[in-house]
Amino acid sequence: MKRLLHTNTKVKRGAHGLGLFATGPIKKGEMVAEYWGPVVTDEQLERSRGKYFFELENNLAIDGKDRKNVARYINHSCFPNCEPIENEKQKRIFIKARRNIKAGEEFGYDYGKDYWDEHIKPIGCRCGCGGKGRKKRR
Ligand SMILES: [Zn+2]
Repeated sequence: MKRLLHTNTKVKRGAHGLGLFATGPIKKGEMVAEYWGPVVTDEQLERSRGKYFFELENNLAIDGKDRKNVARYINHSCFPNCEPIENEKQKRIFIKARRNIKAGEEFGYDYGKDYWDEHIKPIGCRCGCGGKGRKKRR
């Protein structure tokens, strides 16, 4: 299956470890990358201690650990320039630009409240929100 990845993207080291960055302009609404991998149950994911995953409906998740799944390098942001779009029927996730993105910007999407509360808040969010998260947003 052909996996979607915008050509203006590159994985590199940023302020928060590896991230996915724009190497050229990306327009609002364009697809940045597909988040892909095998569809597994939450139990399977837990057993394999999967760190890279995307939650789907019905206790399923995409196991995104394959390094070729470039979307796994997109970090969480409380002020995201991207958003995930789920194709429920196909069980595929596409990361789409929420606004125009300039060369050099790091891509980010909101990992969601549950993930943020469980995995990000305890270690301190490093997206630039000052650890306050989404509630104090805007
Ligand atoms: Zn944040």
